[in-house]
Amino acid sequence: MGCTHDCESCSSACASKEPESLKLKLNEMSSVKKVIGVVSGKGGVGKSTITSMLAVAMNREGYKTAILDADVTGPSIPKAFGLHVRAVGSDLGILPVETTTGIEVMSVNLLLENETDPVVWRGPVISGTVKQFWTDVIWNDVDYMFVDMPPGTGDVALTVFQSLPLDGIIIVTSPQELVSMIVEKAVKMAEMMNIPILGIVENMSYFKCPECGKEHKIFGESNIEQTAEKFGTKVIAKMPIDPEFAKCEDNGSIELYVSDCMDEAVESLKKI
Ligand code: ADP
Repeated sequence: MGCTHDCESCSSACASKEPESLKLKLNEMSSVKKVIGVVSGKGGVGKSTITSMLAVAMNREGYKTAILDADVTGPSIPKAFGLHVRAVGSDLGILPVETTTGIEVMSVNLLLENETDPVVWRGPVISGTVKQFWTDVIWNDVDYMFVDMPPGTGDVALTVFQSLPLDGIIIVTSPQELVSMIVEKAVKMAEMMNIPILGIVENMSYFKCPECGKEHKIFGESNIEQTAEKFGTKVIAKMPIDPEFAKCEDNGSIELYVSDCMDEAVESLKKI
């Protein structure tokens, strides 16, 4: 009786009341339009690499991009961009560090006194840090923010899913993994959280011989297309194994790496 459908201001405990949102408020001085989570089943498949490539590719298209490094215990984003400074803050918030081409980055490695110090923190502290990257960092007019999620479906991944307003997730796999199982887990988690899946990126898909130009499937066929179809999604990029690329990442010049592998992913992101 007299229901206004405004659950926030209503005190009655009716059955159809919407559960309280766990979503966190962005810092008052920030502006972030789209938030994309990048997930993987396990470490080492290239999730951080693909996160960086997506941010670089969208930045080249003229969008202001940012990376929130939620992989707190394995932060590799600052190194890939050659960022070795410390982030500074004021009473108003912490400022992200900008890369050479203007991508905003926040990572625990930009806050540690020594970037080689390990992060030996318990789950709730790590989750709290990720939340603060959203609430306490001043993100300046960002069109696309990419969240480098910790691998798997653990505590911190759950925090990101519940606390940040994700517009979609991208699943990164590599042919060595049990791809079908990994994709199914990620798809189910996204469904539980009501977050759309934008597509799958297969990393280390093949190796192109620099001499004969032939493509070799080093880890064998992954049947990624069939897997994607089975779970109602699509493959939006296939990234080859490229030693040149690993070198760029190691020496902090990932922004100089040029490849058309991300073109389809870029088009999908533009459509959100
Ligand atoms: P994750 O974030 O999944 O743990 P990373 O993105 O840190 O994985 O990648 C692990 C390592 O593999 C890094 O040293 C990176 O440079 C290398 N790497 C990732 N993708 C490729 C690729 N396509 N070709 C060559 N090296 C790659």
